[in-house]
Amino acid sequence: MVLPTVGDTVSMCSCALLLPAVLLALLAVLITTVASVRQEHENHVGTGRVRDQDLVASYVHELAFVADVDGWLRYVSPAGTASLGLHPDDLVGYGWRQRLHSDDLDHVTAAFERMTLGDPTVECTARVRHTDGTWRWYATRLGTGGIAGRTPDRIIGVAHDITASIVRQHWLEHTNAELEHVAATDALTGLPNRRRLDEVRRATWAQARRNSEPISMLVIDIDNLKAYNDRYGHDAGDRCLVTVARTVAAALRRATDVAARYGGEEFVVVLPSTTSDGARRVAESLRDAVRAGALPHAGVSAGIVTVSVGVATTTPDREDDGSLFTRADAALYRAKERGRDRVETAPPIPGSR
Ligand code: GH3
Ligand code: MG
Ligand code: MG
Repeated sequence: MVLPTVGDTVSMCSCALLLPAVLLALLAVLITTVASVRQEHENHVGTGRVRDQDLVASYVHELAFVADVDGWLRYVSPAGTASLGLHPDDLVGYGWRQRLHSDDLDHVTAAFERMTLGDPTVECTARVRHTDGTWRWYATRLGTGGIAGRTPDRIIGVAHDITASIVRQHWLEHTNAELEHVAATDALTGLPNRRRLDEVRRATWAQARRNSEPISMLVIDIDNLKAYNDRYGHDAGDRCLVTVARTVAAALRRATDVAARYGGEEFVVVLPSTTSDGARRVAESLRDAVRAGALPHAGVSAGIVTVSVGVATTTPDREDDGSLFTRADAALYRAKERGRDRVETAPPIPGSR
């Protein structure tokens, strides 16, 4: 039997000590490698909550934000902030009210209050000031992102820039209003035209019926305009028509009185809530105002442009609107027959005021 020598014993002990050291070293290398691979993976795709949030926010052009319930902005997305000419640092730490249009403050405040009272989502539209001084419109959806029934500690908002569609909508509304105005206005005199007059007559009639009130109508005709045209020319005749139109409109006192060009050299005035006496006074004042204008008309004995006026009054339960006009027109005819430059009143319908 061969006994181990002292040298052999030392060698065995060394091996036993070396093996765990090597294993430990291998383990350390493995841990370091895994950690660095993991770090590299994180660098590429991002696994942290904040990193995902930034990644999404840099792609999404909506203005995303997180605010305290008392209004302080805690986070604002960079791309959305840039669309206002701003950097997130210009907003974070400030109240959301600071860049809002003053007309929108109340309803946005109300929207925030609804959130704090438990509404899970609320939508609102508001204007935010761009650094260039213009206003941008945002349709904003607010949410608490919290658990239902719990008082939220923050409000999350995603605001979509709808300025282009609002501008388009305003332009359309403006254009429609202009078209409507043009369609309802007489091009020469600027007074409401016959189409508009028909609408006014219908509406006034309905209101007078509801309130059981009298309604009066004047039919006004420029005297001897044909002779005026013949003497001074058609353009001068046009100017004469415009002058008389302005005089008639200016002589009306109540906001509800309406003067319109009926056609040719005739005008109609609708006087809501006006009795026969009141209507006659208005008619006389119109006639006087035209005379006071003293537009020369050498072709007639008066030497100036004058008008004749027919007046009729009724209450809607006594006759219809067409019949009121017919009676006023008949009164005008009588004024012409009796020498022009005068006011004639239609005989009252029995029972009318
Ligand atoms: P009367 O006192 O009976 O109303 O006489 P008149 O000449 O005013 O009435 P008539 O019905 O005989 O003729 C109407 C005139 O009004 C003729 C027409 O050329 C003129 N007239 C109607 N519309 C216009 C217009 O837009 N411009 C001009 N310049 N004249 C017009
Ligand atoms: Mg006429
Ligand atoms: Mg005439």
